[in-house]
Amino acid sequence: MEFRDFSLLATDTKVAEFAEGLARGELLASKCSSCGELQYPPRSDCPKCYGDTFEWVPLSRSGALVTYTTIYVAPEHFAPDLSKTAPFSRYSYKPLPVGLLELENGLRVMGWIRGVPDGSIQVGMKLVASPEVLDDGRATVVLEEEAEEK
Ligand SMILES: [Zn+2]
Repeated sequence: MEFRDFSLLATDTKVAEFAEGLARGELLASKCSSCGELQYPPRSDCPKCYGDTFEWVPLSRSGALVTYTTIYVAPEHFAPDLSKTAPFSRYSYKPLPVGLLELENGLRVMGWIRGVPDGSIQVGMKLVASPEVLDDGRATVVLEEEAEEK
C-alpha cells in the first residue's frame, strides 16, 4: 500500500507565499485588493467580493485562546517535537495540545500550544503565535505564552 504525502509542499498555488512566509518566520494573511477583507489562512479568491487579487499582510501575533484539545498521537508532520518516539514507531505518544487563537483583529490562528504546564491551559488565556521551521524543513505554527515584561 502506498501512502501519499498531502503536505504544504505544493507550490503551484497563488498562496504558496504563505508557507514561504512561515519558513522566514512571518505569519501572513491575504488582504483582498478590492474590498480589503483579511483572510487567515490566506485565500486566493475573496469570499466577500469574489475579487481574485490580493496582497500579503503580516499579522499581529498576540491573541486569546478560543478553544483547545490535546492530541496524543502526533501527525508525522507539523508537530514541533517528535524527539520522543515509541519503540518501533516513528510516532510520538506524548500529549501535544493544539489550540485556536483569536488575534486582536478577529482572525483565528491554529497552532501547537507549547510551554504551558499540563492543566494550566485555559480558554481566554493570552498567547502569541509564532511560525517555526521543523527539522525536515517544513513549517508549522506554535502558540506560547508571551514573555513577561520586566
Ligand atoms: Zn474582497
